[in-house]
Amino acid sequence: MLQATDSASRAQLPDPATAAETPSKFVYRWWSIGFIVVITVATLVLCPIYLWRYGLTKAEFAFFLFYALASSFSITLGYHRLFSHAAFKAAWPVRFFVLFFGGAAFEKSAMAWSALHRLHHRHTDTDRDPYNIKRGFFYAHVGWVMVEIPRYDYSNIRDLARDPLVVHQDRHYKLWSHVSGFLVPLLIGAWIGGWAYAILFPVAARIFLVLNSAFCINSIAHTFGDRPHDHHSSARDHWLGVLLTNGEGYHNFHHRFPRDYRNGVRWYHWDPTKWLIWMLARLGLASDLNRVSDERIQNSTHHQ
Ligand SMILES: [Zn+2]
Ligand SMILES: [Zn+2]
Repeated sequence: MLQATDSASRAQLPDPATAAETPSKFVYRWWSIGFIVVITVATLVLCPIYLWRYGLTKAEFAFFLFYALASSFSITLGYHRLFSHAAFKAAWPVRFFVLFFGGAAFEKSAMAWSALHRLHHRHTDTDRDPYNIKRGFFYAHVGWVMVEIPRYDYSNIRDLARDPLVVHQDRHYKLWSHVSGFLVPLLIGAWIGGWAYAILFPVAARIFLVLNSAFCINSIAHTFGDRPHDHHSSARDHWLGVLLTNGEGYHNFHHRFPRDYRNGVRWYHWDPTKWLIWMLARLGLASDLNRVSDERIQNSTHHQ
């Protein structure tokens, strides 16, 4: 849904110096706008009416929760920490899982997501940052997916092109995302709770929540909170962002040390993504977890 320009962008590799500069005039992406409006209305209007009239059985709630968590962690653990930052290595079943359920979040392919995210880190708070907070809270949250971002390319993710699974998900992104995002939740959802439940909960509300959770990193985590590690960056640490995003809201730390597999660096910091990576490592499904030394973190820490 949000990937209309991917293949076109990939075909012509532009001059990286001008890549992803935000245009002064917006070209609107009406399919993306329509998609976001439909899932927003379904979640905020139709889901409460459905809950009031029918409620959810335990099985219906459990399936919704599983699908929401699988899609959400596939973005934070997979698209973000594994693919965009190479913060650890993962065995192929983990990579397949996060590519499958990451596709279900409709946030582009892992390659496209990582290309944009690496630009965000490299050019934070400038016109070359695809979700530049200086263009306003709404733009950084969701406005940027409603307009064309010109000329971003794949020159900053050549490492990912070596993984055949990642490349397959990118080349056949529509197939992956429609099977994982629509077909499977619709069929299993209809079997568990009927078509209305299937459309509203494991599809519409789940996509709405996972998308907005990711968007909060670019809006809330660049607006509210403290900057204990780098006060030149707009990235901030805030408990609300932390709760809404599986622990990604320690964003000031993350911008200072993007390759650390942890975003919440203390053991008591709420960072379920970090705990999941640690558990995968214990199971032999992840390895090479990058950790910045305590000394470097201590040296970078200051109070405002
Ligand atoms: Zn950021
Ligand atoms: Zn990042």
